[in-house]
Order: sequence, then C-alpha cells, then structure tokens
Amino acid sequence: MVTPESEPFWDGLARGEIVLLHCRSCTRWTYLAGPGCQWCGSPDIVPEAVDGHGDLYTFTVCYVEYGPGLETPYVVGVVAPDCEPEIRIVTNVVGCRVRDVRIGAAMTPVIVATDSGHLLFYRPTEVRAS
Ligand SMILES: [Zn+2]
Repeated sequence: MVTPESEPFWDGLARGEIVLLHCRSCTRWTYLAGPGCQWCGSPDIVPEAVDGHGDLYTFTVCYVEYGPGLETPYVVGVVAPDCEPEIRIVTNVVGCRVRDVRIGAAMTPVIVATDSGHLLFYRPTEVRAS
C-alpha cells in the first residue's frame, strides 16, 4: 500500500530505481519508513537511490496460490541490503530453480512491472549451474 512515507520507494521503482531513505543525522538507511529514521528517530531523512544489492537472509517456499499470476511453488525471501544489512526487504526470489535458493547468497534486485504497479523482486547474483 502506498503511504506518504513509502511513496518515494514506489515512485523510484516506476523509474527503475531502488529508493531508500537516508538519515542525515546518523547516516543509516531506512526502508518503507514511518515519519522518521528507524534507528535514531530523526525526521531528517531524504530519499536516495541505492544499488539494492544484498544477501538472502532467509526464505520460504510457498505451495499455496494466493492469486492469479504467481505460479506455485514460488519463493518468498528476506533480503538484507548491503547498504544497511540490519534492514529486511521482504520480496519474491525469481530467476532460479527453487532448489538453488540459498541463505546467504548474494542477491541482485529485479524490478518487475505488474498490473498493480512495479514490484521489487530479487534473483541470485550467480545461479549455480548443476
Ligand atoms: Zn538516523
């Protein structure tokens, strides 16, 4: 859902950018913020584009179809971005076989246009051939 605080993130995806909020007080990054920095509470946070690369913190394989357009099984992952490894981006892992998904793997962002707007998915940076 788009809120005033998350609007820069969704607008960024539509431009092909991953936009997080950068705190000018403590210099840390916030994802889908409330009214201030999630680390120090400062309201002095500004939207800035990042490369979005990160590591896969954890994942689960889903076998239940919640709606059209998402074939099962699919992988819901949680990515810790390199720019701020303590934040967690909940995402779908795409572009590889389910059995090739690994916790700790380097992940590359993939912006996907859907009927309900642009979404941020991730794929493994290197898919192991086997
Ligand atoms: Zn801060």
